[in-house]
Amino acid sequence: MMIKTEKTLCLKSSRGGKVRVVREHYLREHVPCYSTLCQAACQNEGKTLSGEVTHYVVPDAGVVRDFLEVLEFRELQGIVFMQTACQAAQHSRGRRLYNRLRGLLKDPRHDCIHFANEFQMYSYCPRGKGETQEKWQTRSIYQAAVWYHDHLAGLRPVVMITEDQEAIAEYGSRTSGVYVISTKEYLETFWPDLKAAQELYSSIAQALQERESDSTEREYAEHLPAEVLEAGIKSGRFIQGTLNVNKHRAQQEAFVRFEGSANKNTELNSDILVWGGKHRNRAVHGDLVAVELLSSREWRGRTTALHEGLGEDKAGGDETQSQPMPTGKVVGILQRNWRDYVVTFPPWEEVQSQSRNSQRILVTPWDYRIPKIRISTQQAEALQDHRVIVRLDSWESTSLYPNGHTVRVLGKSGELETEVQTILVENCIHVPPFSEAQLREMPTNSAEQPWSVEAVEASSRLDLRDTHLVFSIDPLGCEDVDDTLSVRLLPGGTRLELGVHIADVTHFVKEGSLTDLEARSRATTYYLADRRYDMLPAVLSADLCSLLGGVDRYAMSVMWQLDAESLDVCKVWYGRTLIRSSYQLHYELAQSLLNGEPAEVPELSRARANEDEGERSRRRAELLEALRLLTRVARHLRALRDRGGALELEGVEVRAQLDSSKNITALVPKQPLEVHETVAECMIYANHWVARKIQESFPHQALLRHHPPPRQEFFNQLVDSARTRSFAIDTRSNKALADSLDQAVDHQDPVVNRLLRMMATQAMSNALYFSTGACSEEQYYHYGLALDRYTHFTSPIRRYADIIVHRLLMAAIDAEKGLAPSKALASNKDQEELAHQINNKNRAAQHAQKQSTELFQCLYFKDKDPLTDERCTADAVIYAIRANGMLVFVPRYGLKGAVYLKNRENQVVGVKEDGSCVWHGGTLERHLDRISTTTTTGTHTFRVFDHITVRISVQPSRCHPLNLCLEVASSRPHQAPQAGEQPKGRGRSELVQEVVRLAEEASQQAKEKKGRGKLSKEEREFRQSKQPNLYSLLQEVAQLALLDLPACEALGVGA
Ligand SMILES: [Zn+2]
Repeated sequence: MMIKTEKTLCLKSSRGGKVRVVREHYLREHVPCYSTLCQAACQNEGKTLSGEVTHYVVPDAGVVRDFLEVLEFRELQGIVFMQTACQAAQHSRGRRLYNRLRGLLKDPRHDCIHFANEFQMYSYCPRGKGETQEKWQTRSIYQAAVWYHDHLAGLRPVVMITEDQEAIAEYGSRTSGVYVISTKEYLETFWPDLKAAQELYSSIAQALQERESDSTEREYAEHLPAEVLEAGIKSGRFIQGTLNVNKHRAQQEAFVRFEGSANKNTELNSDILVWGGKHRNRAVHGDLVAVELLSSREWRGRTTALHEGLGEDKAGGDETQSQPMPTGKVVGILQRNWRDYVVTFPPWEEVQSQSRNSQRILVTPWDYRIPKIRISTQQAEALQDHRVIVRLDSWESTSLYPNGHTVRVLGKSGELETEVQTILVENCIHVPPFSEAQLREMPTNSAEQPWSVEAVEASSRLDLRDTHLVFSIDPLGCEDVDDTLSVRLLPGGTRLELGVHIADVTHFVKEGSLTDLEARSRATTYYLADRRYDMLPAVLSADLCSLLGGVDRYAMSVMWQLDAESLDVCKVWYGRTLIRSSYQLHYELAQSLLNGEPAEVPELSRARANEDEGERSRRRAELLEALRLLTRVARHLRALRDRGGALELEGVEVRAQLDSSKNITALVPKQPLEVHETVAECMIYANHWVARKIQESFPHQALLRHHPPPRQEFFNQLVDSARTRSFAIDTRSNKALADSLDQAVDHQDPVVNRLLRMMATQAMSNALYFSTGACSEEQYYHYGLALDRYTHFTSPIRRYADIIVHRLLMAAIDAEKGLAPSKALASNKDQEELAHQINNKNRAAQHAQKQSTELFQCLYFKDKDPLTDERCTADAVIYAIRANGMLVFVPRYGLKGAVYLKNRENQVVGVKEDGSCVWHGGTLERHLDRISTTTTTGTHTFRVFDHITVRISVQPSRCHPLNLCLEVASSRPHQAPQAGEQPKGRGRSELVQEVVRLAEEASQQAKEKKGRGKLSKEEREFRQSKQPNLYSLLQEVAQLALLDLPACEALGVGA
């Protein structure tokens, strides 16, 4: 049954006027209620509300509009979003709110649904004559709440929450079982333990109240309406792009980067400079804006010198500016890209002197690029010197600063836990403990309930347990073994079989399950300097998906039949297998065996006593034979790739390797073991063949990984620097580059080659995931690995991309067998979107890792006296020259930074006869590969690759990240007091350990003082690996693999 009625809507047009729209409106008897408690056989397809709740809650329009963030707490259950409330909120708050609401409704981790109350015959109520829109909305939502309660036969009470006191008075106790109360009362009554939600509520409520009393004096030009912006962009009068603030000149300098080729200003191919606050016109770093160019007389240059005192803009001084460049002003905001920001509250004295009204204060974001934010709070005193998460609400043209509200307190600034959490929030990394519901999806494996292979599953897999000698080679002490190998001579002797067997994670992680969604949103395991946040729960990552020795495990395998002579591929098999690894080797052991040393294999020594010596030596010989075969095959594969131009860089390949733990140790500089490379090569091979397979099967929707060739001009620094040592670097192809880098070895100084490889790495673009339908085939190429197809298949435990690739591979195999796919494949568009998501998360993971490393470096040096403590003085190598100083690399700590030769008083570094340095009046002269200082003590020239001595100290900062400060102490190399070089990387892991120890001592002391622990339960639970084991290796590689962001930025964006 359906009834047609008419409904009049009063809409706000984009020009701000009001429009009346009359719509036909159809009413139905049956509209799904989406509750598992439904008593009326509704067709509830998809997500439904849990029945295991004490009540359902219905927010009214105002609550949805202003307090959606509170409703986003996953702890809140049984939320019914009424159509009326959603529409009203959407009309007043626009697309951002709509998108959040939609995200919430789609996400199965949130127990909430949408009910189309206006289509339900019996819950719909027409608007009365003279009734205001707001009144009608409230009445409609109340009516719907009553209907919902009756529909479920009163099985659960329904609570409607509102900020409207009149509504509470009117409806509060009208119907039994349906309650109308305020949001505040609701949270206090039903969720007394959810303090965070209550705090967030009052923070938003206060911000709302304050906003009403804002002043009216205009500080900025009004933004143009959306349709004017749109037309202006179409005609080419305005340019659309993302605002990028220069963090070294945060208040003055910002750039707008082009978006696509839609721009009609063809003569314009650079960024557009936006200079000063007025022209930036309330745009925040990251916003999508429309800019209008100023007349060319008003154009300015960008600043090019190194900057001391990050983020503080100094008036005057001798700024070095480039040629004037296109300069513009922001005329409108197309999309706000605001995220959560960490801010620091000022000291209480400052708050009191700031204004008479001490409830409104200015807080300073951790990120230099974000402006100060105005907060209304009564907690300013309690929160002084605390780091707090803040969200922006609005930035009116009448307000010098944007308005925001506090969300969550992280802790006191300067404490290790606060600083680590800050880094996570700033990188949008959200790693809450795995929820109970997620953990319920996991298989159990305990002493009482051991996990075992299921018979049905076993029969559907190729069983390799008795036929194949499977083993793993990992760093010593590795817990999560996600790959194993096998190799054997096939009967007849003319063919070899190489096998790579990867943990079958997708057997346990079903598409669309809660665990899957969580892994998808994390996209990767996060490694910080002292801890790790896993992508998957431990029962998988450290147990059932870890291919440990001597236990049955499910695997996904790739097996190649190779010609025993030529090693050409004859046949490839892909599929699900059942394996039992016989040996869990570590690199050093495997290499010793290969070297013919009498190393002890634990699995053989542990063998049963009744096994005779003959059997033992037979098994040892069998293992040795396999290792030798494997080495032979890997050498061959590597040679093939070398011919194609594979790069051995400090970075690119390493970065790929960084994600598959086994390859990492290939870079331990002291003792490079061939076996590292052997394992790495097999993994690269598996990734390559799986990439080929899924691309053939799904030419338009496979997830691959490519590495675009670098732009030639990025190699300039590398080429110029190499030339100073008479090395010629050929960058025309990856092969030429690899060969010339191999040649560029200074036998006197091994650091030179390392630095050259580092510069080559910096010139590279990042390797990225993409969907095959989104690129042409030439763009599939992986420049660093010299392969035409590549993807990630070998580490599904800690990379979500591999999980997708496993599913694609299974779909390809099923399709070949003629089986119908169990689930529709993601479209090219969805796949590309996912690729973007994973790329972004990987970038965030790298940033967080880098920032946490820098944090530890700073904490390490913080309390040391640079003038007396030996550890603060170190050898450094110059690798680039700038206008007022140079960039150096400190091998002992693996850190890079700027060394200034000119200070704010315009003094320069003078070098005395013994090499020691002092500040003096004088001049600087800069050349391409060298820089000279001249003072009364004479002239000294610093050249690229010179070793100098630097003194390391920490620049204190209350609101922003701490910064290391490098000063030249002597123009000569540093002689370490103790003879003999320290093993590389040792300095770093010691550094991490010492900082952790100090932080723990501090927290212990605080605990004794306050009688409570500093670490929350979740923090303790998720600080999984305290001893940097695998991580210290990762660290070492990461220092080289990561783009040198601060150094790049110090040169001025893109200079
Ligand atoms: Zn129902």
